[in-house]
Amino acid sequence: MKEVILCKYGELILKGANRQNFESMLVKECRRRASVHGIFKIYYLQSTVYIEPQNDECDMDGMFDTARKIFGFVAVGRAAVCEKSMESIEETVRNYIGDKLDGVRTFKVEAKRSDKRFPLKSPEIAREIGGVVLSLMPRLKVDVHHPDAEITVEVRDESAFVRIGQKPGAGGLPIRSSGRGLLLLSGGIDSPVAGLMMAKRGLDIEALHFESFPYTSERAKEKVLSLAEEMCEFTSRIHVHIISLTHIQEVLRDTCDEDSFTVLLRIFMMKLAERCARAYQCECLITGESLGQVASQTMSAITVTDSFANLPVFRPCIGMDKEEIVREARKYGTFDTSILPYEDCCTVFTPVHPKTKPKREDMMKELEKVDVDALVEEAYATMYTETRKVFENYR
Ligand code: ATP
Ligand code: MG
Repeated sequence: MKEVILCKYGELILKGANRQNFESMLVKECRRRASVHGIFKIYYLQSTVYIEPQNDECDMDGMFDTARKIFGFVAVGRAAVCEKSMESIEETVRNYIGDKLDGVRTFKVEAKRSDKRFPLKSPEIAREIGGVVLSLMPRLKVDVHHPDAEITVEVRDESAFVRIGQKPGAGGLPIRSSGRGLLLLSGGIDSPVAGLMMAKRGLDIEALHFESFPYTSERAKEKVLSLAEEMCEFTSRIHVHIISLTHIQEVLRDTCDEDSFTVLLRIFMMKLAERCARAYQCECLITGESLGQVASQTMSAITVTDSFANLPVFRPCIGMDKEEIVREARKYGTFDTSILPYEDCCTVFTPVHPKTKPKREDMMKELEKVDVDALVEEAYATMYTETRKVFENYR
């Protein structure tokens, strides 16, 4: 019996003339990601991407898990394929459901007939197949409202498919379909989540991390690279650019008003991020800020830092509270790494009473005390790049 993976897309269906571009992107990404799981034929038809194993060596479990992490799919299911006749569908149901209904007490059959030439209508197919299941497993009961298991028969243009349940996909839009953004990636909980939320909206994510060696350690940087690697489960590949802020921090500490240190540092981070973004064709910046979470994330602080950035800054976590962000971090699998106790450059030389209502004019005055352009230039020259991928040969 031939089994395939069916991936359904969600809001892509709403796309008009562009839809085929999005579908091609999805197929392309599936093909790249499938290469480690075996040889598959992958194509789209009728709002579904089909992933067909081409031999017995294909790792269907691995491919299924991977498909659930590809943005653009709302649901992913495994299905047995058969000819479009009731005999063939019934035969497939008999062979396919086997031990898949162990522990199940109630079920429902749902039929979808997209090929309207098929002689039976959907409710008739469902009724017939329900009868087959009951004759096979008389202990089962039908429950159309809250069944333990849902058996779906789809009669499509090319074949019929029998599947038992499906799982939610990662949702959103295909990666790289919305352009590219530069994520300011710290080692915390929020920024990986922010990056993945924007990747879900189709952004290709490039990352920028600021280190502050020797005040921050090699292990702190390794933690950030581990986070990037974990994000690759969903984004496939991330280039992480790393810039040293050490000298800037020392100059700010020695020269400027202590309470303004945090906001001034963030202004430098924005300037460097903008420069990096332009060099790598990123059209926006992304941060993990959440309104009011810390002193640098008050409305005034955000307004002041933003006024020094000439690119849009996306902050998808802005309206989320910590628990919601943690929930997302657990869902994406970044939480455990995020809570490893390593220092971040933002925790170096932090003032005891950071300004929560900074004013742009005051910050401008503070900045006049230092050579901003030279500091930015010098810090930017420290930049180097590490690349992380979901698997080594991903291209
Ligand atoms: P997170 O949990 O994401 O680390 P945070 O709660 O530590 O955030 P801040 O330190 O104020 O909050 O940082 C706010 C945002 O600034 C982060 O979400 C991230 O986008 C960016 N950021 C902070 N530190 C760094 C860093 N070392 N490198 C790059 N970006 C950073
Ligand atoms: Mg935070």
